[in-house]
Amino acid sequence: MTAKGYSDLNYGANLDPEDIPRRWYNIVPDLPEKLAPMLDPKTMEPVKKSDMERLFPKEIVKQQFSEDRYFDIPEEVLDAYRRLPRPTPLIRARRFEEYLKTPAMIFFKGEHVSPVGSMKPNTALPQTYYAMKQGIELAVSETGAGQWGSALAMSCSLFGMKSRIYMVRVSSRQKPGRKIMMETYGSEVLESPSRNTKIGSKYLESDPEHPGSLGIAISEAVEDVLSNDNARYLLASSFNYALAHQTIIGLELEKQLEMIDIEPDLMTGAIGGGSNYSGFIYPILSRSLRKKGETEFVAVESAAVPSTTRGQFTYDFADTSELTPLVKMYTVGHNFANPPIHAGGLRYHGKAPSLSMLINKGFVRSVSYTQNKIFEAAELFARTEGIFPAPESAHGLRYAMDEALRCKKTGEKKVIIFNNCGHGILDLSAYQEYNSGKLQDWEPGEIRIPEYVK
Ligand SMILES: *Cc1c(COP(=O)(O)O)cnc(C)c1O
Repeated sequence: MTAKGYSDLNYGANLDPEDIPRRWYNIVPDLPEKLAPMLDPKTMEPVKKSDMERLFPKEIVKQQFSEDRYFDIPEEVLDAYRRLPRPTPLIRARRFEEYLKTPAMIFFKGEHVSPVGSMKPNTALPQTYYAMKQGIELAVSETGAGQWGSALAMSCSLFGMKSRIYMVRVSSRQKPGRKIMMETYGSEVLESPSRNTKIGSKYLESDPEHPGSLGIAISEAVEDVLSNDNARYLLASSFNYALAHQTIIGLELEKQLEMIDIEPDLMTGAIGGGSNYSGFIYPILSRSLRKKGETEFVAVESAAVPSTTRGQFTYDFADTSELTPLVKMYTVGHNFANPPIHAGGLRYHGKAPSLSMLINKGFVRSVSYTQNKIFEAAELFARTEGIFPAPESAHGLRYAMDEALRCKKTGEKKVIIFNNCGHGILDLSAYQEYNSGKLQDWEPGEIRIPEYVK
């Protein structure tokens, strides 16, 4: 028997584990323009590789600055990918289509099968692996909603590393499940602000029950790494290397589309820092960069954090505490207040530089939705397909649904694909709010962004 995966236009496609892609795609050399360099805010000079190596694993810094089109995936990472499991399925949302009575075909990439509930292990695993190979003993990071922390904690336990995660105190109290998950993987989870760092202690002096913020948690993680030679800081998204690691999604998808012999008319998905959506589209979009393709790309953000739809494409700090370099990207400003939404992964104020450029140049379009819209789609999806999408994933799902409803009017048989970047089983309280009609929509007032670079 030589069964090589399974495919059927009615079902979708499953790749054989042997056919998992062996290298990640790095879009940097194929971009329509050179990426603007990250700038040191003190000197306004481009940041150098050597500046970053004290904080991040060496191989990660190398990938961040690389102009190579492909990075080989180490065997150990391929093995870990296959056991997640990867390749993830491409599934046709047949019952959802029938419910909508649309002539369109709707497919989704099943990143919800991840054991931690999101696509974040796609980059957490290689980052942890490279740190381990370098002889680093401790991975340090921060987490807000807990998706990154869970992926990192799992990856560290798989590669025999220690991990310490600063979790924003309010999030840790609101989402105890995530903390339990990280601790079960063996991670040390500290409520931030904590007594473990000088900066944390300072905040606790003024308020022993300080609720914390992502900015404070980042500052604590950075201070921790800088005071410990054997520690490195691992980041979830937005940087070039994280986007490249996520292209495992789009590279698998290319093969799956070939198996069922279709070309997408629309690829849509959610953007927080931009990593899962970029990873999903870049292998296919790169064809359009060379020769205009037929596929339309629509990135969906939360209307509560409208970086690309109402923000600016400019230099800004990558973090709230102004510890990072200045990065050219779409942003709502790094001082943007933490918005009251359930899609925790979409709260980041900026969007990845390469994706920002592609949106700015018109290769990718962007739209936004408020929460009630996306939970309406999420509920219909759960009822027809049985799958609870993460609140983040439901943003791409909602756009897919709206396009399918437009097709119903025009009679077009478009092929629509969205990235189901995570499951919502740890977000049930958000579903409960929606079910009971208590979910509030929220949109920011005027957005002002300080100008750092003329
Ligand atoms: C973190 C997260 C996101 C947002 O991050 P990106 O870098 O934009 O991918 C989206 N969905 C899920 C499920 C997440 O965990």
